[in-house]
Amino acid sequence: MTRPVYVHDLDALAGQARAVRAALPPPVELLYAVKANPDPGVLRTLAPIVDGFEAASRGELRRLAEVLPGRAPAAYAGPGKTDADVAAALDAGVHRIHVESPTELARLGALATATGRSAQVLLRVNLPVDAPGASLVMGGGPSPFGMDPADAVGCARRPPAGIDVRGIHAHLASGLDAPLAATVAAAVVDWAVAEVDAAEVDVGGGMTVDYTDPDARFDWEGYGRALADVLDSYPGVRLRIEPGRSVTAHCGAYLTEVIDVKRSYGEWFVVVAGGTHHLRTPAAKGHAQPFTVHPRLGAAGPRTDGGPVTVVGQLCTPKDVLSFSSTAGPIGVGDVLAFAMAGAYAWNISHRDFLLHEPPLFRTGDLREVAAEWASRPFGT
Ligand SMILES: *Cc1c(COP(=O)(O)O)cnc(C)c1O
Repeated sequence: MTRPVYVHDLDALAGQARAVRAALPPPVELLYAVKANPDPGVLRTLAPIVDGFEAASRGELRRLAEVLPGRAPAAYAGPGKTDADVAAALDAGVHRIHVESPTELARLGALATATGRSAQVLLRVNLPVDAPGASLVMGGGPSPFGMDPADAVGCARRPPAGIDVRGIHAHLASGLDAPLAATVAAAVVDWAVAEVDAAEVDVGGGMTVDYTDPDARFDWEGYGRALADVLDSYPGVRLRIEPGRSVTAHCGAYLTEVIDVKRSYGEWFVVVAGGTHHLRTPAAKGHAQPFTVHPRLGAAGPRTDGGPVTVVGQLCTPKDVLSFSSTAGPIGVGDVLAFAMAGAYAWNISHRDFLLHEPPLFRTGDLREVAAEWASRPFGT
């Protein structure tokens, strides 16, 4: 039996990141949200392409310091920052700290003055944004993230000593398509300039990824044109975005092999090595992870009839479902399944110790080549 393996295609990642960068107007700063995938190879690949990294914990600060020594993170964010967290961010020389509440701002101010430093901050605001076309309102409801607009205005007008409020940060939703993301960006900048005379605005991440269509991509060109319009209206404003999922989701795949196929009360189940303790994304988001089937050379074991299957892993829970599909074709014991779109919020959000199975392996390369090589080896070796 071969252990499941994560494959990161770093060439594809570089291509995707360059396409994102090229679609944005040059003044727009592109940060990568490390929490989507903090893999060292991913960070190294993105380093020459993005303008900086957004870290959301001390662990991510440490990872960046290890992988990219000498390059201070662009932003430090995240809820529930302790004194030690903000001290670590100041020590790391992060360019901007994103502040989540008035209490956090006071804490940061006390620390900065006590240590004779100053902190450049963006205030995270939970702003209601009306998207008439989509007939929905984002933000503006009770949330642990960010400040109500009135609190943010108060903090901007009367910051504590040691604090330099440079502007506003907003990350209101995820799964936004380009028109919606552009509407949010424009509304946030309008508000930030009108209410606090912001010199900098970070409009967050959350650009959508379509797990039903591995070939689809967020419309970066359309979004870039919309941001160019925003810059035309506010030429003095430094505009920043911080996507995660939309940058790395497509560059990762989770490869595993079929241990068993069985029929249960009329439905086919395909049991694979590994499971959602390696790839929690489908369980977390409630979707079917797209996959391709690479038939095992010389396999003579049982196969499904080509109809719909539920693909499950090795965990003793009915929630361990990786995918369900009506189009995969016959699947047999030994076949290699390659789950696409496993490059973001995948291994790093997985409950890896549940049942104490072995962790997956990791390698870089072309997904199809790795899958073909695996499927060409005899099953059970
Ligand atoms: C998670 C997060 C991001 C990245 O979101 P994606 O959906 O991965 O693009 C950006 N900013 C903040 C504040 C976040 O919490």
